[in-house]
Amino acid sequence: MQDLYLHNSQTRRRELFVPANPSHVRVYVCGPTVYDLPHLGNVRAFVDFDVLVRLLRTLYPRVTYVRNITDVDDKINARAAASGEPIGAITARTGAEFQADMAAIGNQPPDVQPCATAHIPEMISVIEKLIAGGHAYEAEGHVLFAVASFSEYGALSGRSPDDLLAGARVEVAPYKRDAGDFVLWKPSAPDLPGWDSPWGRGRPGWHIECSAMSWRYLGTDFDIHGGGSDLIFPHHENERAQSLCAFPGSDFARVWLHNGMLQVNGEKMSKSLGNFFTLRDVLARAPWEAVRLLLLSARYRTVLDFSDTGLTEARDAMDRFYRALQNAPAGAHAPVPEAFLAALCDDLNTPAAIAELHALAGPALAGDAHAAAALKAAGNLLGLLQQRPEDWFRGDGDDSAILAAIEERLAARRARDFARADTIRADLAAQGVVLEDGPTGTTWRRTN
Ligand SMILES: [Zn+2]
Repeated sequence: MQDLYLHNSQTRRRELFVPANPSHVRVYVCGPTVYDLPHLGNVRAFVDFDVLVRLLRTLYPRVTYVRNITDVDDKINARAAASGEPIGAITARTGAEFQADMAAIGNQPPDVQPCATAHIPEMISVIEKLIAGGHAYEAEGHVLFAVASFSEYGALSGRSPDDLLAGARVEVAPYKRDAGDFVLWKPSAPDLPGWDSPWGRGRPGWHIECSAMSWRYLGTDFDIHGGGSDLIFPHHENERAQSLCAFPGSDFARVWLHNGMLQVNGEKMSKSLGNFFTLRDVLARAPWEAVRLLLLSARYRTVLDFSDTGLTEARDAMDRFYRALQNAPAGAHAPVPEAFLAALCDDLNTPAAIAELHALAGPALAGDAHAAAALKAAGNLLGLLQQRPEDWFRGDGDDSAILAAIEERLAARRARDFARADTIRADLAAQGVVLEDGPTGTTWRRTN
């Protein structure tokens, strides 16, 4: 079996991955807060962890992958207050949209997707353990974690107590003993979601959810904890503090993996720059496998630039791979090639793995049936290349014609030839394609 090496963000070192129990590997990844569509940066993280789990399933007999759903949160409450849509309707709709998006980008569902609101008793239990151990205290209906009670606080994010103090908000709630103390439980107004607890009716803080749900489904010790690098502080630092203090002697997560951020055309993705994209925005412009290939084209820990050129190149690469697969005899099976597996086992080196796909495509295009079958087996580990080639080319051809028409319409509008632009829109509408002009450009969708 290949040795798997992973960069552990806690030790800041590349380490040989040794699961606590090789017959059952356990992974926890922080999931979405369900009040909005996932943006490309979120999606990148979930695609990378999907590939990690596919790899682990190849290497080990059993893997349990848990990814939570945060369905109680101040951001959800704020969205409901702003839009008038009931909280339950927002979380149900956004949760369903999230599942649809994960399927649309080719991610396999995790083994368990626990919702925070279904695990309040576990959260209360962890909080009670923290109070009993002297790591948390009650103040004015709140329960707070006392950071001073945990000497390792800051070790995961590498922040010193001074940094932490400097980063704390200027205005500190008067009931906090220490500016860095964070909320485990807080009171809820009658019109907001709340549960009865030993500290009155209230709701949990965000961090305690993940400590409670990882404990419930993976135990006090598990192998890998993943998330975006923006979660290292405070979320993961706080999760770690809660779990290690509630379960003395445990390790909590033994390896921490964190994704790099995503840029668009070399710029930070932001709503103010008008380059903030949801997955749906991008899937209106390109087939999902091209988007997925582009998301995997940089190693998970590095910054990924999601560029228009990159998207075109990814689409061309998928065309090449599927042309190569046309030479695979029906029903042919090949093992995953060693060099490809070695690339993924090198701290998920997806760029090197994709280079191996290209190396297989060469001989496959020249008629080597074994290389074509190996290409398909390797692609499966990245969640790619499982369609029939004719289906890929059919979808691709249709989309290309639509995208070309959209480009032509934009060119006509730039030339102030509005009659031509309207004709193109009408022609597309007649084919069942509706265009939507928005601040981030023109998107399209099929009406049938
Ligand atoms: Zn979490």
